[in-house]
Amino acid sequence: MDDAPDIGELTPPDRTLMGPGPSEVHPRVLRAMNTPLLGHLDPAYLEVMDEVQELLRYTFRTDNEWTLAVSGTGSSAMEASIGNLVEPGEGVLLRTNGYWGDRMAAMAERAGGDVVSLPTAANEPIDVAEVERAFAEEEIDVVGICHAATTTGIRQPAMADIVDVAHDHDAYVIADCVTSLGGVPVHVDEWGVDVAYSAAQKCLSAPPGASPITVSDRAMEKIRGRETEPRSWYLDLSLLAQYWGEERAYHHTAPITTVYALREALRLAAEEGIEARWERHREVAGELKAGVEAMGLEMNAPDDLWLPSLNAVRVPDGVDDGAVISHLLEAYGLEIASGLGGLSGEIWRIGCMGYSARRKNVEYLLAALADALRKEGYDPDGQAAAAASDD
Ligand code: PLP
Repeated sequence: MDDAPDIGELTPPDRTLMGPGPSEVHPRVLRAMNTPLLGHLDPAYLEVMDEVQELLRYTFRTDNEWTLAVSGTGSSAMEASIGNLVEPGEGVLLRTNGYWGDRMAAMAERAGGDVVSLPTAANEPIDVAEVERAFAEEEIDVVGICHAATTTGIRQPAMADIVDVAHDHDAYVIADCVTSLGGVPVHVDEWGVDVAYSAAQKCLSAPPGASPITVSDRAMEKIRGRETEPRSWYLDLSLLAQYWGEERAYHHTAPITTVYALREALRLAAEEGIEARWERHREVAGELKAGVEAMGLEMNAPDDLWLPSLNAVRVPDGVDDGAVISHLLEAYGLEIASGLGGLSGEIWRIGCMGYSARRKNVEYLLAALADALRKEGYDPDGQAAAAASDD
C-alpha cells in the first residue's frame, strides 16, 4: 500500500456559470447546506419534506398530491417518469432525432416499451399535426415531450394541444421541464400533462441531486395498477410515495443536505413570485440576446420559440467555437458550452438560469465574448456599428 495521499483542501476556482447548467447557487442556498443533518425519519425532517412538496406544487403550478423530489439528477426523474408510466409492450411516442428524446427512447426501451418516432425535423419543435398523424397510424400509450430543449435553445409551444390529442386517445403525457421549471412558464395543471419532471441545477439554482417530479392522480392510478413492477426498485414511484406520503415508510436514506438546498432555492422562487421570476429571465436573457445580435451573431431559435434560459448562438464562419469557450474560461473564469450532437461546432450554449440570470453576469459575458471573438479575427464592434446604421 502507498502512503496516504497528500491532497489539499478543496478550493474550486472562481467561476461565472453561464452554461447549460449547473447555474450559480444563491448564498442563502449555500448557507442552508451548511446546517446540521437531521435523520431522514425525524419529524423535523418530515416537515422539511412537506414544505418542499408545497413549494414544488407552487413552482410547477399544480395541485397534484404526488409532487416530490427524486434522489438523483434530472435523468433519475426522467427515468422515474418513464420507468413507472411505461409498461412492457406499450407504445411510446417520442422524437428520436434530438438529444433528450433519444435519452427518453433509450429509457423507454429498457422499460420494455415500443418506441414510435415522430418525424420532427432536427432543430424544430414538435408539430401537433405530426402527433395526430402518429396516433392515427400507431398504437400509442405514452407521449414524451421536452418542453425546453437545452441542445437547441428552442421552447416547445402548444403543450396543451399535444396533451389534448394524447388524452383524446386515452394516452399519457410526460413533460421534460428540466430547463424550464422556475425560469420559463410551466403550467402543469393548465397543460394537463400527466407527469412533469425537472432538475435542481438549472433555473432553480440548487445543486444537482434532488429532482422535482409531479404525477397526476390519473397517472398514479395507472402506475399503481401496473401488471408488472417497474424494473427499477430505487425509482419505483409507488414505493417513493410511501415515504413522501402519509405512511412515511423508510425507502432509502434521503440526501438531506441536497433537499435542504432545494427547499431554500424553492423558497427564493416563492419569495420572488413565480411570474416575476419568469419575467426576470425574459428581461435579463433578452439583454443577452440583444447583445449577441448587436455583435452580428445569430440565435439558433426563431424569436417566437426562443428559450430565455438557454440561448443557443450560432458560431460565425471562420471562428473556432472551442477556442472561444477556452478563452472565456481561462481569461475570465466564465463557463459557456459547445453544441451537442448534430449541433456540435455549430452553436454556443449560453445559459441564463436562476441566480446566474443577473444583469451583472450578462454584461460580463458580453464583454468577455466580444474579446474572445476579436482574438478569433471576428470584429464584434464593426457588426454592432453596421447594425446601428441599418436602423
Ligand atoms: N433533460 C434535459 C432537457 C436536460 O437539459 C438535461 C440535462 O442537461 C437532462 C434532461 C438530464 O439531467 P441531468 O444531467 O441532471 O441528469
